[in-house]
Amino acid sequence: MARREFSKAVQRAAFHRAQGRCEGQLADGDRCPCSLTPAKFAYDHIVPDALGGEPILSNCQVLCMLCHAKKTRADVARISKANRSWDRHHGIADPHRRKIQSRGFPKAPPQRAATRPLQRWLDTAELDPFEEALPDP
Ligand SMILES: [Zn+2]
Repeated sequence: MARREFSKAVQRAAFHRAQGRCEGQLADGDRCPCSLTPAKFAYDHIVPDALGGEPILSNCQVLCMLCHAKKTRADVARISKANRSWDRHHGIADPHRRKIQSRGFPKAPPQRAATRPLQRWLDTAELDPFEEALPDP
């Protein structure tokens, strides 16, 4: 599907709404302080076009280049993940990719009882060098 850009009317309305300032949000939740200098901002799809975002005013924000680069980086990751997920759901896989072959774990010897014999536990207790250091109750 072809990319759907914002119409001139939507860009005009978004620019007026921004009132000359970047509409990006900083990490602390504040609005980006950058002012919009000519040719150094972009009209950004809040929900990316590739993820079904409509080219309408409510899905448009005016961002400075720094904010736009950051948003694009996050969008690319989201879109890639969505594509991988879609591929996996529809059984689309790289034909040259194989699962990692490992030797696996050796087989455990057959277990004869649920717990170890009590005698064995008593043997190790007798060999305990700290046994005598404990005070008698
Ligand atoms: Zn900004």
